Amino acid sequence: MSVLVYAENAGGNFKKSTFEVISYARAIADQNNATLTALSIGEVDGNELKILALYGADKIITVPNEKLKNFVNQAYASVIAQVAESEAATVVVLSNSFSGRGLAPRIGVKLNAGVIDGAVALPDQADGKFVVKKTVFSGKAFAMVELTSAKKVISLTPNSYQITEAAKPEVIEEFNATLNESDFRAVLKEIVQATDKVSLPEAEIIVSGGRGLKGPENWRMLEELADALGAALACSKPVSDAGWRPHSEHVGQTGIAVSPNLYIAVGISGAIQHLAGVSSSKTIVVINKDPDAPFFKVADYGIVGDAFEVVPKLIAAIKNNKA
Ligand code: FAD
Repeated sequence: MSVLVYAENAGGNFKKSTFEVISYARAIADQNNATLTALSIGEVDGNELKILALYGADKIITVPNEKLKNFVNQAYASVIAQVAESEAATVVVLSNSFSGRGLAPRIGVKLNAGVIDGAVALPDQADGKFVVKKTVFSGKAFAMVELTSAKKVISLTPNSYQITEAAKPEVIEEFNATLNESDFRAVLKEIVQATDKVSLPEAEIIVSGGRGLKGPENWRMLEELADALGAALACSKPVSDAGWRPHSEHVGQTGIAVSPNLYIAVGISGAIQHLAGVSSSKTIVVINKDPDAPFFKVADYGIVGDAFEVVPKLIAAIKNNKA
C-alpha cells in the first residue's frame, strides 16, 4: 500500500496546512506500514521541496510543466490522479482548503474512490474497516463515515491535526503528466493579493467583531487586540453587509468556516448561522454585555461586559504579560 499527499503551495512556499496534511498522511502510512509520497505541483524551488522530507515524505514528486505554474482545478486533479495511479496509492490526502475542496471530488471520480471531505481525525481501522471522523452541518456536528471503496480520498480540515516532524532522506523525482486541452477549460489568469495577513481558514487565533461594536471606527480596538495576539480578524455577516469590514472577513454559514485554536467573539450575539462557521474552534471566548446572548452557551470562557471597557483591559493585560 502507498499513501499520496498533495503538498499545496502558495507563491512557491508550502502552507502550514500542507505540513498538517503531510503529518496526517505520514500517520496513515505508519498505521498501514505503507510508504508516503508527497506531490508538489507548480513552481517550488529545491530547498523548499526538501522540507517535505522533514515532515515524513519518503519520496517527493514534482511535475515540471509551464502550464501548471498556476492552480488549474481540472488539470491539477488530473495530475494528482495520474501520480496516484503510477504510485499505486490507495489513499490520497489533501487539505480541505479552497483548492482542496474543488480537487477532492474530481480526484475521487478519476480514481473511482470514496471521498471524505473535512476529516478531523485519523481513520479508525479497527476490524479491517476505515472509518473517518468529519464535520457535518457546517461544523455543528461530527459524523463517523466508513469508506468501503478500495481507493480513498481524504481532505483534512485545516488546524485539526498536529504537525509532527519525521525526517526522511530527501528523494526527489520528476513526473511527466499527460494533459489535455479539456483540462484547461478554466484557467487562472491572475491572483490579486487582498491582504498580507494570515488567511482565516489557516489562522490559529481569530479576533472577531459583531454589530455590538457600533461602527467601523471601533475596529481599531480589535486590530490592536489582534496585533497583540498575532491573530487574524473576522466579523459577523451584518458587519460586512454594512460595509464596516470587507466580505473576505465574514465568517459563518454563508461566509468562511474557521477552526482556530482560539476564537474571540466581541459583540456578536451567536446566531445559529454565525455558529455554523465557528463552532469547531478549539477554544471560544465570548465578550458580550448581554448575559443571555446565545454565544455564551457554546463559549469555553465568557466575559459579560461592555466591549469598550473589556477589550482595552485585555490588550493592556496581554501587553503587560509580554513585557
Ligand atoms: P446582533 O445580532 O445585532 O448582535 C450584537 C450583539 O452585540 C448582541 O448580542 C449584543 O448584546 C452585543 N453588544 C451590543 N453592544 C455591546 C457592547 N458594547 N459590548 C459587548 N457586546 C455588545 N451571520 C453571520 O455572522 N454569518 C453568516 O454566515 C450568516 N449567514 C446567514 C445566512 C442566512 C440565510 C441568514 C438568514 C442569516 C445569516 N446570518 C449570518 C445572520 C445571523 O442570523 C445574525 O443576524 C448575525 O450573525 C448577527 O450578527 P451580530 O451578532 O453581529 O449582530
